[in-house]
Amino acid sequence: MSQPFQLPSYLSPDDPGPWAVYLEQVERVTPYLGKLSRWVDTLKHPKRILTVDVPVELDDGTIAHFEGYRVQHNMARGPVKGGIRFHQDVTLSEVMALSAWMSVKCAAVNVPFGGAKGGVRIDPRNYSQRELERVTRRYTSEISAILGPNQDIPAPDVNTNAQTMAWILDTYSQQTGHLSPGVVTGKPLALGGSLGRVEATGRGVFTVAAEAARDLGINLEGARVAIQGMGNVGGTAAKLFAEAGAKIIAAQDHTGTIYNAAGLNVAAVLEHVRSTGGVANAPGSEAIANDDFWTLESEILVPAALEGQITAKNAASIRTRIVVEGANGPTTPEADDILTQNGVFVIPDVLANAGGVTVSYFEWVQNFSSFFWDEELINRRLESLMRNAYKDISTIARQHAISLRTAAFITACSRILEAQELRGLYP
Ligand code: GLU
Repeated sequence: MSQPFQLPSYLSPDDPGPWAVYLEQVERVTPYLGKLSRWVDTLKHPKRILTVDVPVELDDGTIAHFEGYRVQHNMARGPVKGGIRFHQDVTLSEVMALSAWMSVKCAAVNVPFGGAKGGVRIDPRNYSQRELERVTRRYTSEISAILGPNQDIPAPDVNTNAQTMAWILDTYSQQTGHLSPGVVTGKPLALGGSLGRVEATGRGVFTVAAEAARDLGINLEGARVAIQGMGNVGGTAAKLFAEAGAKIIAAQDHTGTIYNAAGLNVAAVLEHVRSTGGVANAPGSEAIANDDFWTLESEILVPAALEGQITAKNAASIRTRIVVEGANGPTTPEADDILTQNGVFVIPDVLANAGGVTVSYFEWVQNFSSFFWDEELINRRLESLMRNAYKDISTIARQHAISLRTAAFITACSRILEAQELRGLYP
């Protein structure tokens, strides 16, 4: 595969991965950056990449080694922020792209952080809780030199949760000699977590989808919604769409695809996912082929799982009005073009799923002041920030007749590069 971009020597040109997708997105936005384009290469070079070995003694006494990464993409606007994922397919290219999307996301909604991401290449389903605790603590210890409430603040991502954050918090705090709640977000309430954080990403997805539906004259009451991923993001979004009167007609995850034209019973599906680990055979649903998920007629389609799901292969068959990217990087640039040509309105990840990092920001602020807000205030602030970001970005999109993704990237990259230009280079 030939690449028009300069890939770093440590990524294989044969399999450039999600980093190449991100580079293409930056390429597309460069003509709109005016004088700031002089600085654009800053965005194509992560500031710091740490690769670590994570050796762990398993319950049976054997020793396993896992590959771990923490990538800090850009810190011009503030400390870096981003989740840690545990997944068997984690690669450096993926973590690099996810770190860059965090920079863009934080700047797009004007939260004062740069971007980072971490990952451990492990399938957590194959390990006990005690083993996962040891993996988390050893990984944290290996990257702790670059963490800190004013430097780099992890959060949950795919297959990590509040308990994972509690272990990171404890490991880091053991090293500093005092409790440092601000070193992670998405932690349990009992350790200084924030109300509303667990639901925040899904709530943000719903908030911007509702704005877009209104813009396009779509009534949420009775609207058909298809969701890929019934984890924290997809599950919360499903609940909120159903509460607004929409019908969740299909849900897909790694166990299969379920369908009900009259609308799935979201509470029953989520309970089934909790007890069995997936949507397959959920009550009140029929199974359909995984490929058929993408061709279902709907008003709203929410990819809320992993990267690279909407590609040149399936984009043309998608029959929906709005794609709301709950996941990071679910749509390839070629697929993005196909969707746009077909009149599908895409709310990009860097806007659609920014609710999580937004409430992470609120959590971090609460930790610094040791003063906690009630859930009503948090949700109100989250919804108003998301609505304003959506309005600002969609105004730019209309003015220039460009996609919402390009408009979000213009807004974000301009903010990052303006900060970079003002700070200058040292020495
Ligand atoms: N992992 C989430 C994301 O991709 C949240 C990151 C955070 O809160 O720092 O946006």
